[in-house]
Amino acid sequence: MLRHVWAFAAAESCGACSPCRVGSRRGLEQADSGVPPGAGYARMLDVMRQASLCAFGRRLPYAVRSLTRAYGDRLPGWGG
Ligand code: SF4
Repeated sequence: MLRHVWAFAAAESCGACSPCRVGSRRGLEQADSGVPPGAGYARMLDVMRQASLCAFGRRLPYAVRSLTRAYGDRLPGWGG
């Protein structure tokens, strides 16, 4: 499910701003790796939330963090 969220974000990001364009691709790469993210992941989510141009990028971190709150025991570290 988390990978699906990132895949959707990477596919639907229009690419007009860097936080969403780069963040969504990095989120998908991280999800594909299956390796729990490091400290930079939380920073990436914060940058997306604060600096994306439109609501798509600004709200995506909320979806990721909501999912990891619900399944936190199976997704340690993925909420940033
Ligand atoms: S936040 Fe909005 S404007 Fe920026 S890349 Fe994503 S969809 Fe485009």
